[in-house]
Amino acid sequence: MQLRDAQRAYILHTLRQLRSDWPRVVSSLISSTDTQDEIAEMKIAIEGCCHGALPAIYSHIAALEARHRYKVDLLLICGDFQAIRNERDLQCMAVPDKYKQLGDFWKYYTGVEKAPIPTIVIGGNHEASNYLWELYHGGWLAPNIYFLGHAGCIQVNGIRIAGASGIFKSQDFPHGHWERLPYNQGSMRSIYHIREFNIMRLSLLSRPTIFLSHDWPQGIEHFGDTNGLLRRKPFFRQDIKTGSLGSPPMMGLLHTLKPDWWFSAHLHCRFDAAVIHQEAVPQTSASGDTGEGTNPDEIVIGDFDDDTVDAPIAGGSSVVDERGAPPRSGPSSSAVPVSRTPPEVDLPTPAPLFVPIRNDDEIILDDEELEVSQPPAPLPKPLETKFLALDKCLPKRQFLEVVDVPIPADFIPPDSSAASVPGQSSAANSDNTVTLSFDPEWLAITRAFQPFLSMTRTNAPYPDEAQAREAVSRELEWVQKNVIQKAGDARAEETSQSRAFVPSKTANNLL
Ligand SMILES: [Zn+2]
Repeated sequence: MQLRDAQRAYILHTLRQLRSDWPRVVSSLISSTDTQDEIAEMKIAIEGCCHGALPAIYSHIAALEARHRYKVDLLLICGDFQAIRNERDLQCMAVPDKYKQLGDFWKYYTGVEKAPIPTIVIGGNHEASNYLWELYHGGWLAPNIYFLGHAGCIQVNGIRIAGASGIFKSQDFPHGHWERLPYNQGSMRSIYHIREFNIMRLSLLSRPTIFLSHDWPQGIEHFGDTNGLLRRKPFFRQDIKTGSLGSPPMMGLLHTLKPDWWFSAHLHCRFDAAVIHQEAVPQTSASGDTGEGTNPDEIVIGDFDDDTVDAPIAGGSSVVDERGAPPRSGPSSSAVPVSRTPPEVDLPTPAPLFVPIRNDDEIILDDEELEVSQPPAPLPKPLETKFLALDKCLPKRQFLEVVDVPIPADFIPPDSSAASVPGQSSAANSDNTVTLSFDPEWLAITRAFQPFLSMTRTNAPYPDEAQAREAVSRELEWVQKNVIQKAGDARAEETSQSRAFVPSKTANNLL
């Protein structure tokens, strides 16, 4: 049976959606079609906080690969990465002195060690903030380790991965990036507080597959097993009660962008949830000032070290539960300071239930009525965001999981000549080449908002949504013409071709 591309893409998409609900039935359906080998997926490992534990994370993944006989294609790290290159970087990281240790990142930075898996990271609230500032728009922290930027979106084998670094703190939200070296106790912290500028830019993205944030979206605990979370973390009770657990702008972005997956860290425990976007978002009493003062900011490393030890990871790895549980109570998502987000207009309209229209003059026999009765049309599957927060890398903690993410049907792998481009090896593991590409839409957003990137406390007035979208579409034309066409490819220029990793120190003069 020959299928047109669009038909095939639609069928594959539908099968993937159904597979989580009826895995056995759908697997047999897939195997009985000629499309079986076209469902390509990436096996993506998700890590909560890193806290400098790169070797332990990579060896944990290697153990999982050996145990389960699969290959992990990509690692995502949700902040507190701690890209400490040298002793000076330690002076820019906001942690108590006892945690100021050089760690192992410098080995990856200098080439003594090589990250075995392409790794994408965002920043948290314990970082070498001077180094992350150098890569504000994203870039290679080390070979094979890519920083998504203070805000960013790239494509990995066509899968769109967006993210925001830092954590929410209301008093710094509206400011520009005024911090300068040498940091004092105040600027060393405010520098990683997320700014409205970046939320505004991210809110203009069309739907990504994955979103990474360090802190949780505010109120996300209501979309999962809240009581189970409270049993493990009873000291969350007050923040949950006041609606101040998590970041308000992140929940705003979750509802605006509706990604398939949202991964977080920060609170040092595992928690999963599912947000069904078809559900009307309940407006609760949470107001614009939620998060003021009581946001779980500034978690001091070690606060959670003495917590009750969480249950060990069952089987070492699991594909996240994909249940579609509706929210158990209303999220406090009304406290969204992103006034420019579009309304939720892209939800599928439920098909009307079958309602027979009866002619009163018509005589209907019983068996005739049976013939006209039909089952109701199936409702379209609502958009869903699967949320997963993970712990930090310590024994017996739930810090890493592996999920399968389908590669878009329209993704075209680069030709083999790209492999000779300097830096290309930065995005490869031992068995597979993973292609990192700039996202054209994000490039356009970056260009459109460059005039509004403030280096002082105050910002120039931002454009309204209509002006911003117009500017983005104008810049998208520029990107099409000057980046994509010049690259001679229908895709964006590969990230590694434009900015290879450039070390500032070698291992020899560092030691
Ligand atoms: Zn952490």
